Amino acid sequence: MNEKLPKVLKAAGLDILSCMQCGTCTGSCPSGRQTALNTRRILRDARKNRVAILSDDALWLCTTCYTCQERCPRNIPITEALLELRRLAIKEGFMLPEHRKISEMVVEFGHAVPLDKETKQKREELGLDPIPETVQKYPEALQELRNLLKACKFDEIVAQK
Ligand code: SF4
Ligand code: SF4
Repeated sequence: MNEKLPKVLKAAGLDILSCMQCGTCTGSCPSGRQTALNTRRILRDARKNRVAILSDDALWLCTTCYTCQERCPRNIPITEALLELRRLAIKEGFMLPEHRKISEMVVEFGHAVPLDKETKQKREELGLDPIPETVQKYPEALQELRNLLKACKFDEIVAQK
């Protein structure tokens, strides 16, 4: 990572430099009450260009509820900044195994949770088409989706380990 984190965030329209470390974001965070997520610390580390933050699993514990962003006295786009940090993390090859697995499913089947045999059978018993109107039903649509994922190099990102 050659570029400085605050610069990258600012270039994305997300200025975090006015953060005064008041902790309102951390104190308001529903996820942080149950997990290791400490929003104030993540922003502080990003401000100080501590790139190790990109490999911190806590980055992925935000549920994007936007409570912190609504309450920040400095109107910092906190949630957006966290999402941008995630994008940077992915670019640097950091992805939780669970997310990678789900992404692999999307690349292969067009769905994070493809229909299994049992579900198809249950749908039939209920008088439904065993496969609903999704890419799983239309191979050409699945191929189009794969083309899109390939065009934005999503497949490459998922494959890198
Ligand atoms: S609430 Fe805003 S100003 Fe306070 S620590 Fe969080 S980001 Fe910084
Ligand atoms: S948007 Fe994320 S960091 Fe902010 S309060 Fe919600 S879960 Fe916490």
